[in-house]
Amino acid sequence: MKAEIIAVGTELLLGQIVNTNAQAISQKLAELGIDVYFQTVVGDNAARLREAIEIGRGRADLLVFSGGLGPTQDDLTKDVLADYLNRQLVIHEPAMKAIEELFSSRGMHMVESNKRQAHLIEGSDPLENATGLAVGNGVEADGTLYLLLPGPPKEMKPMLDGPGKAWLRNKLGEERPLYSRLLKFVGIGESNLEAALIDLIDSQIDPTIAPYAKEGEVALRVSTKARSQAEADGKINASVAAIAQRVGEHLYADEDIPIEEVIVRMLRTANKRLASAESLSGGLLAELVTSVPGSSGEFVGGVVTYTNLMKHKLLGIPMAQLEGEGAPGAISESTARLMAENVMNLSGADFGVSLTGVAGPAESEGKPVGLVYFAIAEKGKETTVYTSHFKGGREMIRLRAVKSALYRLWQALKN
Ligand code: ATP
Ligand code: MG
Repeated sequence: MKAEIIAVGTELLLGQIVNTNAQAISQKLAELGIDVYFQTVVGDNAARLREAIEIGRGRADLLVFSGGLGPTQDDLTKDVLADYLNRQLVIHEPAMKAIEELFSSRGMHMVESNKRQAHLIEGSDPLENATGLAVGNGVEADGTLYLLLPGPPKEMKPMLDGPGKAWLRNKLGEERPLYSRLLKFVGIGESNLEAALIDLIDSQIDPTIAPYAKEGEVALRVSTKARSQAEADGKINASVAAIAQRVGEHLYADEDIPIEEVIVRMLRTANKRLASAESLSGGLLAELVTSVPGSSGEFVGGVVTYTNLMKHKLLGIPMAQLEGEGAPGAISESTARLMAENVMNLSGADFGVSLTGVAGPAESEGKPVGLVYFAIAEKGKETTVYTSHFKGGREMIRLRAVKSALYRLWQALKN
């Protein structure tokens, strides 16, 4: 099965929005074992959309459209495809009812064009839109599959994940669809992970093991074809066990969640709370932790003490520690230790985590770019300070430093 993604929208061509739907759809199709050979972008223009359909049909078995299902005159996808296939547009009654109800509940007048969102290409399957009004469409014609999804990502994703995926699986008619599990790793780089598993990656045919790139994160996808979830789980579990035997100390989740989410869960289970003191990372660690919903029970708060004065005033670190002749300086093992311990003690948390270092581009205190000290303080335990040299630009150094600190925190929580 070869697929092409056709993103429809003049805003995309003008560079006003980024084509994130193409990425999200490609990822989902890869999970389903469908190869994407082309991604196309075309404006809200009937003739050129028709041309894109014509070209796509010639080189793919499945065309996935995003956008142009809305009510306005520039939303053309269903009209153009119906015309191309010589089919009529019909009203999908459940969608029509939902639209009418929404308008009457808001006391708004429904205009004729709103009905367009309930359109369905004759002889096709409706795909329910759980988060919006425009009904999606699955069409099969002359051996080609057409999947029509709305443009707004918050509508497109749930539709693709739910009814879209079910429709595709059904159409693929496969006896053994692809199942996969994502394994997430921390504290190990992509190349080291691959090196540790290279013989498994190369020799495993079923399930397959493939490294999976994610920004600032390392993951593996283990995939197999099976008749049922239970059969797939059996095969995947065996592979995961073999992987865990080698790199289990870095494996933190068998689902696609970030390390900070696992940490929040572990803190919750242990009934422990965390505080942070950050310098070079400027609050990034606090940002990641607080982006986990419900983390307020586990994260008491954090301070960004960027200057020596703030490290002194907010965290009570003596000025003599931070500057002056013979002082260890702000970027030092002993300052990282004091930051973590003091923020823990001041806040009454059970754990304190700190980061201080040189994000660059220029060196600081005569210390090189990428040098980072971070510390994990735990009530009643000896504080541990880590020293790392990170490579990359400023943003990469900050992200890697924070992820490393989270890795060490995760380790501390495991013990
Ligand atoms: P609507 O009912 O909102 O008009 P639609 O299905 O007609 O939805 P479009 O009009 O093409 O879709 O796009 C609506 C909005 O969805 C865009 O303004 C943009 O915010 C978002 N969007 C559309 N296409 C994409 C895309 N390929 N990637 C990311 N966002 C997109
Ligand atoms: Mg629109």
